[in-house]
Amino acid sequence: MVLEVVKYGHPVLRQPGARVEVVTDEVRKFAADMVETMHAAEGVGLAAQQVGRAIQLFVLDVRDVKDRPSTLEIGGQTTDVGSVMPMVLINPEVTPLNEPATGLEGCLSFPEIYAEITRPEAVEVRGWNERGETVAFRCGGLLAKAVQHELDHLRGILFIDRMTSDKRRAIQGEIDALMAATKTELAGAKAR
Ligand code: ZN
Repeated sequence: MVLEVVKYGHPVLRQPGARVEVVTDEVRKFAADMVETMHAAEGVGLAAQQVGRAIQLFVLDVRDVKDRPSTLEIGGQTTDVGSVMPMVLINPEVTPLNEPATGLEGCLSFPEIYAEITRPEAVEVRGWNERGETVAFRCGGLLAKAVQHELDHLRGILFIDRMTSDKRRAIQGEIDALMAATKTELAGAKAR
Protein backbone atom coordinates (compact mmCIF):
# COMPACT_ATOMS: atom_id res chain seq x y z
CA MET A 1 0.00 0.00 0.00
CA VAL A 2 1.35 3.42 -0.97
CA LEU A 3 1.34 5.73 2.06
CA GLU A 4 1.06 9.50 2.09
CA VAL A 5 4.44 11.28 2.31
CA VAL A 6 4.20 14.22 4.72
CA LYS A 7 5.76 17.54 3.75
CA TYR A 8 7.87 20.02 5.70
CA GLY A 9 5.71 21.79 8.27
CA HIS A 10 4.20 18.54 9.56
CA PRO A 11 5.30 18.26 13.20
CA VAL A 12 6.13 14.53 12.96
CA LEU A 13 9.23 15.41 10.88
CA ARG A 14 10.75 17.00 13.99
CA GLN A 15 9.97 14.06 16.30
CA PRO A 16 12.86 11.76 17.24
CA GLY A 17 11.95 8.14 16.48
CA ALA A 18 11.23 5.61 19.22
CA ARG A 19 13.36 2.49 19.19
CA VAL A 20 11.63 -0.55 17.68
CA GLU A 21 11.75 -3.17 20.44
CA VAL A 22 10.31 -6.10 18.49
CA VAL A 23 9.99 -6.54 14.73
CA THR A 24 6.41 -7.75 14.53
CA ASP A 25 4.40 -8.68 11.41
CA GLU A 26 2.86 -5.23 11.67
CA VAL A 27 6.30 -3.57 11.51
CA ARG A 28 7.21 -5.79 8.53
CA LYS A 29 4.02 -4.79 6.71
CA PHE A 30 4.74 -1.12 7.48
CA ALA A 31 8.30 -1.49 6.09
CA ALA A 32 6.94 -3.14 2.92
CA ASP A 33 4.48 -0.26 2.51
CA MET A 34 7.34 2.19 2.93
CA VAL A 35 9.36 0.46 0.19
CA GLU A 36 6.30 0.63 -2.08
CA THR A 37 5.86 4.32 -1.22
CA MET A 38 9.55 5.11 -1.87
CA HIS A 39 9.40 3.39 -5.26
CA ALA A 40 6.15 5.17 -6.19
CA ALA A 41 7.75 8.52 -5.32
CA GLU A 42 10.98 7.59 -7.16
CA GLY A 43 13.05 8.30 -4.06
CA VAL A 44 16.26 6.57 -2.95
CA GLY A 45 15.32 6.63 0.73
CA LEU A 46 12.36 7.12 3.04
CA ALA A 47 12.19 7.41 6.84
CA ALA A 48 9.21 6.41 9.00
CA GLN A 49 8.68 10.05 10.05
CA GLN A 50 8.02 10.90 6.40
CA VAL A 51 4.92 8.72 6.42
CA GLY A 52 3.77 10.06 9.79
CA ARG A 53 5.27 7.63 12.28
CA ALA A 54 8.15 8.51 14.63
CA ILE A 55 10.00 5.19 14.93
CA GLN A 56 13.59 4.23 14.08
CA LEU A 57 13.05 2.62 10.70
CA PHE A 58 14.02 3.67 7.20
CA VAL A 59 14.16 2.10 3.77
CA LEU A 60 16.64 2.64 0.92
CA ASP A 61 17.00 1.70 -2.72
CA VAL A 62 19.93 3.23 -4.61
CA ARG A 63 20.05 0.51 -7.32
CA ASP A 64 18.74 2.64 -10.17
CA VAL A 65 21.03 5.63 -9.65
CA LYS A 66 23.87 5.18 -12.14
CA ASP A 67 25.47 8.64 -12.14
CA ARG A 68 26.23 8.67 -8.40
CA PRO A 69 27.91 5.35 -7.53
CA SER A 70 27.70 3.54 -4.20
CA THR A 71 30.13 1.09 -2.60
CA LEU A 72 29.30 -1.69 -0.16
CA GLU A 73 31.40 -4.01 1.98
CA ILE A 74 29.92 -6.78 4.12
CA GLY A 75 32.27 -8.72 6.41
CA GLY A 76 35.26 -7.19 4.62
CA GLN A 77 34.00 -8.38 1.20
CA THR A 78 33.08 -5.99 -1.58
CA THR A 79 29.43 -6.71 -2.32
CA ASP A 80 27.10 -5.76 -5.17
CA VAL A 81 24.88 -2.94 -3.89
CA GLY A 82 21.94 -4.26 -5.93
CA SER A 83 22.01 -7.56 -4.04
CA VAL A 84 20.81 -5.90 -0.80
CA MET A 85 18.23 -3.50 -2.29
CA PRO A 86 15.62 -2.52 -1.34
CA MET A 87 17.00 -2.36 2.19
CA VAL A 88 15.09 -1.96 5.47
CA LEU A 89 17.09 -0.70 8.46
CA ILE A 90 15.74 -0.65 11.99
CA ASN A 91 17.40 1.00 15.03
CA PRO A 92 20.47 1.93 12.96
CA GLU A 93 23.78 3.10 14.40
CA VAL A 94 26.13 4.91 12.02
CA THR A 95 29.83 5.67 12.46
CA PRO A 96 31.72 7.96 10.05
CA LEU A 97 34.78 6.36 8.45
CA ASN A 98 36.45 9.19 6.56
CA GLU A 99 36.45 12.80 5.53
CA PRO A 100 33.32 14.71 4.56
CA ALA A 101 32.44 15.21 0.91
CA THR A 102 29.81 17.46 -0.62
CA GLY A 103 26.99 16.20 -2.83
CA LEU A 104 23.57 17.24 -4.06
CA GLU A 105 20.62 16.05 -1.94
CA GLY A 106 16.88 16.24 -2.20
CA CYS A 107 14.13 15.02 0.13
CA LEU A 108 10.64 13.68 -0.59
CA SER A 109 9.30 15.96 2.18
CA PHE A 110 10.73 19.02 0.35
CA PRO A 111 9.51 18.72 -3.25
CA GLU A 112 11.75 20.43 -5.79
CA ILE A 113 14.27 21.69 -3.22
CA TYR A 114 17.86 20.51 -3.72
CA ALA A 115 21.07 21.55 -2.01
CA GLU A 116 24.72 20.64 -1.69
CA ILE A 117 25.19 18.93 1.69
CA THR A 118 28.51 17.95 3.26
CA ARG A 119 28.70 14.61 5.09
CA PRO A 120 31.30 11.86 5.65
CA GLU A 121 31.88 10.03 2.35
CA ALA A 122 31.88 6.56 3.93
CA VAL A 123 30.21 5.12 7.04
CA GLU A 124 29.89 1.93 9.03
CA VAL A 125 26.31 0.87 9.72
CA ARG A 126 24.79 -1.54 12.24
CA GLY A 127 21.12 -2.22 12.72
CA TRP A 128 18.37 -4.77 12.21
CA ASN A 129 16.77 -5.91 9.01
CA GLU A 130 13.02 -6.56 8.57
CA ARG A 131 13.45 -10.02 10.12
CA GLY A 132 14.96 -8.50 13.28
CA GLU A 133 18.42 -9.90 12.42
CA THR A 134 21.51 -7.81 13.09
CA VAL A 135 23.14 -6.45 9.95
CA ALA A 136 26.49 -4.66 9.66
CA PHE A 137 28.18 -3.16 6.64
CA ARG A 138 30.43 -0.38 5.40
CA CYS A 139 29.32 1.80 2.54
CA GLY A 140 30.42 4.81 0.54
CA GLY A 141 29.19 7.21 -2.11
CA LEU A 142 25.46 7.70 -2.60
CA LEU A 143 24.50 4.85 -0.26
CA ALA A 144 26.49 6.45 2.59
CA LYS A 145 24.87 9.82 1.90
CA ALA A 146 21.41 8.26 1.85
CA VAL A 147 22.01 6.35 5.09
CA GLN A 148 23.05 9.57 6.84
CA HIS A 149 20.16 11.59 5.39
CA GLU A 150 17.64 8.97 6.60
CA LEU A 151 19.37 8.58 9.98
CA ASP A 152 18.92 12.33 10.45
CA HIS A 153 15.16 11.93 9.84
CA LEU A 154 15.00 9.35 12.65
CA ARG A 155 16.41 12.04 14.97
CA GLY A 156 14.13 14.82 13.74
CA ILE A 157 16.96 16.48 11.79
CA LEU A 158 16.23 17.70 8.26
CA PHE A 159 18.60 18.44 5.38
CA ILE A 160 17.74 22.15 5.59
CA ASP A 161 19.49 22.07 9.00
CA ARG A 162 22.70 20.99 7.26
CA MET A 163 22.71 23.50 4.39
CA THR A 164 25.23 26.31 4.32
CA SER A 165 23.76 29.53 5.71
CA ASP A 166 24.06 31.14 2.25
CA LYS A 167 22.05 28.37 0.62
CA ARG A 168 19.51 28.41 3.44
CA ARG A 169 19.03 32.16 3.03
CA ALA A 170 18.68 31.77 -0.74
CA ILE A 171 15.80 29.29 -0.43
CA GLN A 172 14.22 30.49 2.84
CA GLY A 173 11.25 31.87 0.89
CA GLU A 174 10.56 28.46 -0.69
CA ILE A 175 10.90 26.72 2.68
CA ASP A 176 8.52 29.18 4.37
CA ALA A 177 5.98 28.78 1.55
CA LEU A 178 6.14 24.98 1.85
CA MET A 179 5.61 25.14 5.62
CA ALA A 180 2.66 27.53 5.22
CA ALA A 181 1.05 25.26 2.60
CA THR A 182 1.48 22.20 4.84
CA LYS A 183 0.00 24.01 7.87
CA THR A 184 -2.99 25.14 5.82
CA GLU A 185 -3.53 21.60 4.59
CA LEU A 186 -3.27 20.18 8.13
CA ALA A 187 -5.74 22.78 9.47
CA GLY A 188 -8.15 21.89 6.67
CA ALA A 189 -7.84 18.18 7.39
CA LYS A 190 -8.61 18.82 11.07
CA ALA A 191 -11.65 20.97 10.26
CA ARG A 192 -13.22 18.28 8.05
ZN1 ZN B 1 14.57 13.30 3.50
